[in-house]
Amino acid sequence: MTSSTSGGVDLRSDTLTRPTPGMRAAMADAEVGDDVYGEDPTVNALEERVADLFGHEAALFVPSGTMGNQIALRLVCEPGQEVLGDADAHVFTYEMGAAAALFGLSSRTVVSGSGGGGYGDAGTVSAAQLIAQVRPKDDWHLTATAAVAVENTHNRGGGLVQPLDQLQELWDWSRGAGVNVHLDGARIWNAHVASGVPLSTYGRLADTASVCLSKGLGAPVGSVLVASAERIAAARLWRKRLGGGMRQVGVLAAAGAYALDHHLERLAEDHEHARLLADLLGADPARVHTNMVVLDDVDAATVVPAARAQGVLVGHVSARRIRLVTHLDVDRAGVERAAKVLGELIAR
Ligand SMILES: *Cc1c(COP(=O)(O)O)cnc(C)c1O
Repeated sequence: MTSSTSGGVDLRSDTLTRPTPGMRAAMADAEVGDDVYGEDPTVNALEERVADLFGHEAALFVPSGTMGNQIALRLVCEPGQEVLGDADAHVFTYEMGAAAALFGLSSRTVVSGSGGGGYGDAGTVSAAQLIAQVRPKDDWHLTATAAVAVENTHNRGGGLVQPLDQLQELWDWSRGAGVNVHLDGARIWNAHVASGVPLSTYGRLADTASVCLSKGLGAPVGSVLVASAERIAAARLWRKRLGGGMRQVGVLAAAGAYALDHHLERLAEDHEHARLLADLLGADPARVHTNMVVLDDVDAATVVPAARAQGVLVGHVSARRIRLVTHLDVDRAGVERAAKVLGELIAR
């Protein structure tokens, strides 16, 4: 495979991966049934497999990470209660206010990294900082905090892996407090490969987790929600209400299964490519945990279109910040070419 998207190098996101020939063959060969009847063997097998990987009882295949997250939030939080998380979390930033718009859930956020670590910690969970903001369920004046949401890796944090000790501390505390923990694990695969922490360890530190097959794993569509059997039974109803009940969707689950077989361990290559980009472009290596590189003090309005004109596509985050994401469809030659183009533009 080359790094080409019509000859270019597309570093805007790891969602841009296209199914490989092997994945397409697996999709074509998938055994299918009607999944709304619970009769798609490929979907059922994938759900069982992912539930096992994370050490949970059950799982549900859903069309998107947003649907996985939002159904999970509805499971761990009742209307009028709040879910707490960091201000840059995907669930609060990019999901169109779904928790409020669909379910009547209140959201409250803390600014991560403001607990003393400053910029260097932005995007990483501080258990103490979250716990300090939790409000009781039995107070006549306060909105009750039913759940805390954490994101691993952290998207807006630039692919940061959450520290295991903080996740453990939050989990241990949550058991005594009667507060649920939801993991937005869209890129938990990257966290696992980068840190060596087993997926089951991440899984047992959350009541519900949503994991994406369509990011670095390279499937075209699909996420999986994992939780207890009881919660997944309820999730199945919510999925249907939201229009997410799909029929012979084994063709998509087969892509996910293929991705787990062939594209999980190779994420290490994406991480290596990101470190190479950071090195060549002078980004802070301490902030490059996985497959993202954030470059600051860049005139994004100039650099982004100029790079595009030379076939290098990068993400425009803000006026002074761009983001590069490595993935399956970008090889080492592509990374080197992108670094050369960007290096020259940034130096100007
Ligand atoms: C991509 C992503 C999601 C889900 O996105 P969808 O586009 O709805 O699949 C959720 N959380 C994070 C952190 C993500 O990066």
